[in-house]
Amino acid sequence: MDLKSLYREIVNEHNLRPSHKAAIENPDVVLRGVNPSCGDDISLQLKFDGNVISDAGFVGTGCAISQASADIMIDNIIGLEKEEALKQAELFMGMIKGEVLSENQFDELGEAAALQDISHMPARVKCAELGWRTMKEIIDNKK
Ligand SMILES: [Zn+2]
Repeated sequence: MDLKSLYREIVNEHNLRPSHKAAIENPDVVLRGVNPSCGDDISLQLKFDGNVISDAGFVGTGCAISQASADIMIDNIIGLEKEEALKQAELFMGMIKGEVLSENQFDELGEAAALQDISHMPARVKCAELGWRTMKEIIDNKK
């Protein structure tokens, strides 16, 4: 399987069988994120234990890219400190806007690196960043 097919597979899998597309118990913050240009509409829920994101989930509707990206984002950030999650969001948004990342930075993004081809699809950038942008907004407001 070439890398592009692998990436497509990862995105499909997270879209069809998301691990975190469900409400969580007693979230500390719930924030809606909307991408009107595509119709993506999610509600992101985060729970904190001090500085650490202890649980997260999302509900909503949208295209495959927005849903898969939000699911992967949550996979990545559960267990991270707020600052680490923000750093990942910054890397991710840089990547999908065409910034060149180092190998270490790709590693840090884990499965989210599967969305790197979005940088060649400007119309889908807002879809891919929706979950990440909403997460960043929650954490920025909590500081
Ligand atoms: Zn979309």
